[in-house]
Amino acid sequence: MKKGVEKLYQTNSKVDNLPFQFKFKEAGIDMSQMKKLDARQELLVITMEECGELIHACSKALRRAEMYPLSDSEHNLKKEVGDVYAMIDLLVEWDVLSWEEIEEQRNKKREKLKKWSDLI
Ligand SMILES: [Mg+2]
Repeated sequence: MKKGVEKLYQTNSKVDNLPFQFKFKEAGIDMSQMKKLDARQELLVITMEECGELIHACSKALRRAEMYPLSDSEHNLKKEVGDVYAMIDLLVEWDVLSWEEIEEQRNKKREKLKKWSDLI
């Protein structure tokens, strides 16, 4: 175990009550030394975050049974779909994949849904 981490796990009532950022500082761990993400890593991390937010919006709409026009759930769902769409757009811009590849996969998914779902 690294020295700073060992120090972090030591019981210290003064440190125990601090928010986690300050606990790292108290343990001598410099958060600014964490490896900075390159552009593609940042792109994937933000895409993950936006997908998580879309999942959250879908779940909340279902849990609240609130999918009617002008509801908070409808507003949030539209916002998060747009955010994910923006990230997909950036994935194409950064040459992670192409619109052709996305459309090809979309078509495959639609074919699968025809078989397993009544949506199509
Ligand atoms: Mg979002």
